[in-house]
Amino acid sequence: MPQVHYCGVCRTRSRRLYTPAQRAAEQYGHRRQFHGGRAPDGEGFLKVPWTDWEQRPVGERRASLAVAAVLLVLLLVRLI
Ligand SMILES: [Zn+2]
Repeated sequence: MPQVHYCGVCRTRSRRLYTPAQRAAEQYGHRRQFHGGRAPDGEGFLKVPWTDWEQRPVGERRASLAVAAVLLVLLLVRLI
């Protein structure tokens, strides 16, 4: 399940984060950029629900993108 990083001091939330590496990088970057590398009060991660798109199987997402790309190419060819 994706998570967002939130900061109790800045009262901000990050974009959706999907891997431990993304979470660690977001936390490190936020601390470094806004708090001198220190941990701000009220900092943490919140689990957020998957979107409909994210819940679909990878193969189905790729197939949808391929169909959309073909339709876009056909539209562009027709317009030119
Ligand atoms: Zn902050």
